[in-house]
Amino acid sequence: MIKHFCPNECLPSLLEVDLDKLKAKGYKGLILDIDNTLLPWAGDEPSHTVLAWVEKAKAGGFQLCLTSNALKERVARVSRTLDIPAIAGAIKPRKKPFRQALQLLGTTPSETVVIGDQLFTDILGGNRMQLYTILIDPVASEELVATKVIRRLERRIIRRLSRKGYISESAAHRRLCPGRKR
Ligand SMILES: [Mg+2]
Repeated sequence: MIKHFCPNECLPSLLEVDLDKLKAKGYKGLILDIDNTLLPWAGDEPSHTVLAWVEKAKAGGFQLCLTSNALKERVARVSRTLDIPAIAGAIKPRKKPFRQALQLLGTTPSETVVIGDQLFTDILGGNRMQLYTILIDPVASEELVATKVIRRLERRIIRRLSRKGYISESAAHRRLCPGRKR
């Protein structure tokens, strides 16, 4: 059961995702979460570094798709800014939005990567669909009250994953004590 929550990789940010390595492994499609993955939950504009990363991914031949549980208007705005198709109101971890994303991308599950900041939506959903899952640290600490509640549960699972050796101690430390370097 705990394995359903285990990401294939844990990284500090989207910018650390090694696109060349993913390409070499045969991945062709990237499903990206929006809030606290691409940009702060409370912000509207992706940073220049995120824009550059997205351009690099496109230039590298990756197909990209956004999936977000956020409202349509916000998702549509980000989709326009980044020129990437999007699925709004996704209700991750349901399988449906991931199936829709695969259809948009034109890739199979074994060719597709999910990148997101939440275990209960992005990683659980991606694992249920047998996609390659990358958990990144949230861009900012501000989020929905409901998300803050879920984060408490998330921290418990992170501790268990770390104890069992499924994720590294340093990745767990970053999630459990954000802002504190070891
Ligand atoms: Mg998110």
